[in-house]
Amino acid sequence: MFDRELQELCRRGLLRETIARTSLQGPLITFGGREYINFSSNDYLGLAGDPRIALAAAEAAERFGSGAGSSRLLLGGSLLHEKLERKVARFKKTESALLFNSGYAANTGAIAALAGEGDVVFSDELNHASIIDGCRLSKARVLIYRHRDVSHLEALVRKEGGGRKLVVTDSVFSMDGDIAPLAELCGICRQYGAMLYVDDAHGTGVLGRGRGALAHFGISPEPWMVQMGTFSKALGSSGAFIAGSRSVTDWLLNTARTFMFSTAPAPCVAGASLAALRLMGKSRRLVRRLWENRERLATGLRRIGCNIGDSETPVIPLLMGGNGDAPALSSFLRRKKIYAPLIRPPSVRESRLRITVTAAHHEEHIDSLIGAVKRFRQG
Ligand code: PMP
Repeated sequence: MFDRELQELCRRGLLRETIARTSLQGPLITFGGREYINFSSNDYLGLAGDPRIALAAAEAAERFGSGAGSSRLLLGGSLLHEKLERKVARFKKTESALLFNSGYAANTGAIAALAGEGDVVFSDELNHASIIDGCRLSKARVLIYRHRDVSHLEALVRKEGGGRKLVVTDSVFSMDGDIAPLAELCGICRQYGAMLYVDDAHGTGVLGRGRGALAHFGISPEPWMVQMGTFSKALGSSGAFIAGSRSVTDWLLNTARTFMFSTAPAPCVAGASLAALRLMGKSRRLVRRLWENRERLATGLRRIGCNIGDSETPVIPLLMGGNGDAPALSSFLRRKKIYAPLIRPPSVRESRLRITVTAAHHEEHIDSLIGAVKRFRQG
C-alpha cells in the first residue's frame, strides 16, 4: 500500500530501520553477530544493564505482578508507584510528582492539559517532537521562538495580553547537547506571569550532580514551574514524571489524557526506577565519572578539529557541514566496530552523527572513537 512512498524514502537515503541487539545495553553491544563500542544510548549513568536494577524490577514483578492491569484511576497503581512519586518529589524538591508511561506521553498529555483555548504556548524551535505534538494537541496558540533566543522570546511574550502563558523548553537539547538558558527564561516567566515547563529528559541524572537542570542553575522550584523528567535515559529504566506543585499534579491527574486513559506503568518499571534513584543518590561517583568521560571525548574530538557545535553535555553532535560526509563516517566507524548513529532529516535539519557518552565507557573506548574519527578525517 505504501510501496511507492517507501521506495522514495529509500531512494533519498531516508529509510529507517530497527536493529535487534543481542546483548545487554551498555558500552559494548552486540548485533548482527558482531560486538561494537556503543555511542548511541541515552543510558548516561550506565544503569540500563545494571544487575541491581534488573533484580529490583524482578522483585517488583514478583510482588505486584507483571502488568499493572489498568489505569491509575482504576487501581492500576501500587504502593511502589506512590513511593516512586514521593521519591521523585523529594529528589526534585517539589510538592508533588505524577508518573507517566513515557516522556512522550508526559509531554503530549501535560502540555495539552496545561494550556488550552485562549492560552499561548511559547516553544523553542528545537524542542523535542513530543513537545511539538503536545503543543499541537493543546488547542492553544503556539508561538515558536528562535533557539535559546531569550530576546526573541521576550518580544513575543510582551505582546500577549490575557490568557495563560506557558513557556516550554528542553533543558538539554537532545540532538545538539546544548543547555537552555533557564535562569533567563525564569526571569521572563516571573516578569510576565507565565508558567515554565522544562523537559529535563537529558538533564535528570546528568546535570546538577544528577538532580537536573534547575539544580544545575541553582534555581529553586516555584509553583509556576513544571519539570518533566524521564526514567528512560540516565535512570536506566522506562517511563517519566511530572514534578511540580500539588495543584499542577492534581490538575494533570484529572485532565491529562495520556495519564487518565492509559494503563499504569508496569510495577517492574516503578521498582527499577526506585532502585536507580536510590543507587544514584548513594554514589556520587557515577555522575562524576560521566562528566570525566564527557570531557575526555569532547576535548579529544575538538583537538582533532571536529565541530561539536555548542554541546556542553554528554550529547555530542559531530557536525560535518553540508558536504554529506556524515553517512560515510557512520559507515566507516561501523566497519571499525564502533556504533555512532547517523541522525537525518526530518529529526534534524542537517545530517550528523549524534554521539552519546556514558559513565560506563572506559577510556580506551573513548580513545578508540577519537582515533577512528581522526583516521577518517585524514582520508
Ligand atoms: N523529551 C526529550 C527531550 C527526549 O529526548 C525524549 C526521548 N528521545 C523524550 C522527551 C521522550 O521520552 P521517552 O523516550 O521516555 O518517551
